Amino acid sequence: MNLIDLKDLSPSMLTDFVLQLGLPNYRAGQIFAWLYKHGVTDFAEMTNLKKEIRQLLADKAWISSLQPQTIETSKDGTIKIAFQLDDQALIESVLIPEGDRATLCISTQVGCAMGCAFCLTGTMGFSRNLRPAEIINQVLAVKKILATQIVTPEENQEIHEKTGLNNLVFMGMGEPLLNLDNLIIALDILLDQRGLDFSERRITVSTCGIVPKMRELGERTAAVNLAVSLHSVDDSLRSQLMPVNKTYPVDTLLAACRAYPLPPRRRIMFEYILIDGVNDSAEDAKKLVKKLRGIRCKINLLPFNESKNMLYKCPPQARIDTFQQILWDAGFTVLVRTSRGADIGAACGQLVVRPGTKTTGDCSSISDNG
Ligand code: SF4
Repeated sequence: MNLIDLKDLSPSMLTDFVLQLGLPNYRAGQIFAWLYKHGVTDFAEMTNLKKEIRQLLADKAWISSLQPQTIETSKDGTIKIAFQLDDQALIESVLIPEGDRATLCISTQVGCAMGCAFCLTGTMGFSRNLRPAEIINQVLAVKKILATQIVTPEENQEIHEKTGLNNLVFMGMGEPLLNLDNLIIALDILLDQRGLDFSERRITVSTCGIVPKMRELGERTAAVNLAVSLHSVDDSLRSQLMPVNKTYPVDTLLAACRAYPLPPRRRIMFEYILIDGVNDSAEDAKKLVKKLRGIRCKINLLPFNESKNMLYKCPPQARIDTFQQILWDAGFTVLVRTSRGADIGAACGQLVVRPGTKTTGDCSSISDNG
């Protein structure tokens, strides 16, 4: 009989499971707290459950966890963690500390099918979606790493509330909206106050522009933040950079952004990687201004993080400044994100792992998404 990984169940699915076992409703809340507040991975540790209940659970279910395979720390403090999954597939998460806060960049797929031209993950191709448990376990594993660094050994029994991990960005390997059902279960777990209790304002889901799924995300979830990888508003160029644009061109994508059910005072974040001589001219900036007019948004400019595996280059500083100035002058909120973790290969949308190899990758310029 296949055992159910309890971490694949949303809070309401866990309640249904508990009721099916003939247990009262409140047991689901107790189990949920053990899983996510205390981080237990063994039913024997659920000490407020009778022995017979623990045995009943063990007969039907199991509790997965992820152990870091490698942890690399950049000289700027960025930490890249590789995890090996049950089927030996590898994924990476990136932790970006900033003072007493930290942002975690989470993967949602093994590889990615979208093939963006500037992204190393795209070169891996797509292997599979991550289960909800595999998404959540990245967060739990990183909280544990942080907890062991900042609390005393006696307190390490329990995953500590105050780890400083307060921002989650779904910008790691994969296109989150192509794993939407599992993403939504993971979000339900992350936001539940009985467990991890993340604020919806501190969670950002990033998409390359899967238009129908954007609508679905808005309809099916609490109001997490939405980031859209734009990188050009010229259809021909954007299709070269991001093949998804052939299916959902710029105007279709921006119409979906306009229709997205944003809560009051919240803005869509547009990500724009500046690539030398490709999309970084004053003309490009002016076109961007024209297209984004009327959308409640902020713009993150990400100077391209050069890598020996990519032909693209980072623009000179003067061109970055001019591009930013044009957006500022038009009244947009615009930030230039400096690269983080470049020395360990850790920059946004460029994580790459291949079976049998040491992990490499890049994930920078991610943070402050609240
Ligand atoms: S940028 Fe994102 S959507 Fe595009 S290939 Fe990379 S991981 Fe996939």
